[in-house]
Amino acid sequence: METHPTHTFGPLTVTIDRTLCIGSGNCVNLAPGVFRLDEQNLVTFTDAPEPDALDTLIEACAVCPVAALIVTDEDGRQIVP
Ligand code: SF4
Repeated sequence: METHPTHTFGPLTVTIDRTLCIGSGNCVNLAPGVFRLDEQNLVTFTDAPEPDALDTLIEACAVCPVAALIVTDEDGRQIVP
């Protein structure tokens, strides 16, 4: 498993830093269509990641207690954390 998987959602790019994830599940609760916990209890993308809405996706990344979810916009600016 990659340590920093990345996925693009329209204008947003989400990168997971699996080296930081503590498996709290906060992001999974808010965006179960995008994130899941794997057999190591670390977050990864679902097989076909699809957010309900981009603002929900941003919120799901922002609630991570260890800043393991990085969001950048189409200009490469970091939005989260
Ligand atoms: S909220 Fe952060 S620590 Fe919790 S499962 Fe998601 S990425 Fe891991």
